[in-house]
Amino acid sequence: MIYMDNAATTRPFEEALETFEQVNRNFYYNTASIHPEGRKAGQLLEASRKQVLELLDLGGHKCVFTSGATESNNIAIQGVLRKKKQFGRTVLASKIEHPSVINVVEEMKDEGFDIKYIDTRKDGKIDLEDLRLKLDNDVIFLTVMAVNNITGAIQPVSEIAEILGDYPKVHFHVDATQSIAKVDMELDGPDTLSLSAHKFHGLKGAGALIAKQGGILHPVMYGGGHESGIRSGTVNLGAVAAMAKALRIATENKEENHERMAGYNERVRNAVSVLPSVHVQPGGAPHILNLSFEGAMGEVVVNALGARGIMVSTTSACASKFAALNETLLAMDNTEAIVKGSIRISFSSFTTDKEADILIEALNGVHKEIGGVLK
Ligand code: PMP
Repeated sequence: MIYMDNAATTRPFEEALETFEQVNRNFYYNTASIHPEGRKAGQLLEASRKQVLELLDLGGHKCVFTSGATESNNIAIQGVLRKKKQFGRTVLASKIEHPSVINVVEEMKDEGFDIKYIDTRKDGKIDLEDLRLKLDNDVIFLTVMAVNNITGAIQPVSEIAEILGDYPKVHFHVDATQSIAKVDMELDGPDTLSLSAHKFHGLKGAGALIAKQGGILHPVMYGGGHESGIRSGTVNLGAVAAMAKALRIATENKEENHERMAGYNERVRNAVSVLPSVHVQPGGAPHILNLSFEGAMGEVVVNALGARGIMVSTTSACASKFAALNETLLAMDNTEAIVKGSIRISFSSFTTDKEADILIEALNGVHKEIGGVLK
């Protein structure tokens, strides 16, 4: 099978798996224990933290290890809102955020917060004019992802940080999950950032919440006080060390991988955009490509590609089991037929030239096979 669902998760690097195994074999101690081996485990944890921050060019920031981006987004949103509630009650979010952001801000309505959504342009980027219109004195929090997980659209994070220069009260949170080691982006503007190791060939169950100033963080779950009290619970040291290892390898090869994935993306785009009734969404990040067979159901296309040995998804893995139409594509003003017929193809550094060729041939084959239903 050819794996092209890398926005859902990536295959771990061998080196990351080895690190995970070695750490669990040799440093299985609790990082909070004060006996000699516990201290060594604690040192490894701190070395991993330093490495992650340095690789992201965020030395001086605070890094809290979590179980992944869902947990990081929850801590950032719930924790910061509770801490800042006396300064205002309005929260701004883009319409195209991941459910681990949208569902959290929606939940915060019960605590008295008012949520306003920023419009999206047809190119999948947030509308900065609409952001400016909605920024007022009551706004205390803005959340915008770095790269959209459905289309790959790169969001103007630096420009937003600049706009917020005039609104010092607003906390700027960025879900950077899909951008890490994929897209070059200055990440020192936002106040907090979320990431997940398994999106850059680390392991599932490890992630980080990174903050410009640790003091703004507040726990949402209480316990023994690990991770400066922000994320209690014995630290998954093996997965954290494996994350630092994966980030190093992914960062070292970023340019070469970027060029290769961007090349595949372009080739597939060019090959399918000439086919009748095929609509290719504007993208941005090299690893994601979203396209629709107008008139067909996305599931049918995904299954037809599956029968040809290629694994892709309809919209996102998190949403693909539910019938609702994809919110990101709707926010970009796509028709219902385009949204229903959409599939997401996502590459990784493991993707090869030959696999890209096979994909193009398979897309042509599926197009012929289901041609009767296309608009
Ligand atoms: N944000 C974005 C943009 C994502 O793509 C994902 C993963 N689908 C997440 C957050 C959640 O990551 P995790 O499932 O690792 O918590």
